[in-house]
Amino acid sequence: MKCRSCGTEIAANALICYKCGTATTEPRIPPPTARPRRRNRWLAVALLVGGLLAGAAAQQAGCLTLIS
Ligand SMILES: [Zn+2]
Repeated sequence: MKCRSCGTEIAANALICYKCGTATTEPRIPPPTARPRRRNRWLAVALLVGGLLAGAAAQQAGCLTLIS
């Protein structure tokens, strides 16, 4: 079949066009409500990692001041 966006010949069972990335069918999976949940999850992970990094940096700074 042909890509409806760029017209490139692609496999009949292809989900997206390999050339331009346009989906060959309407997206069925992602409902609009699923996105904020995932974003909040990543935000939580980012905050956790940021906290760990800040803690490690503080610890490192403490060690450096102890050494010098
Ligand atoms: Zn295409």
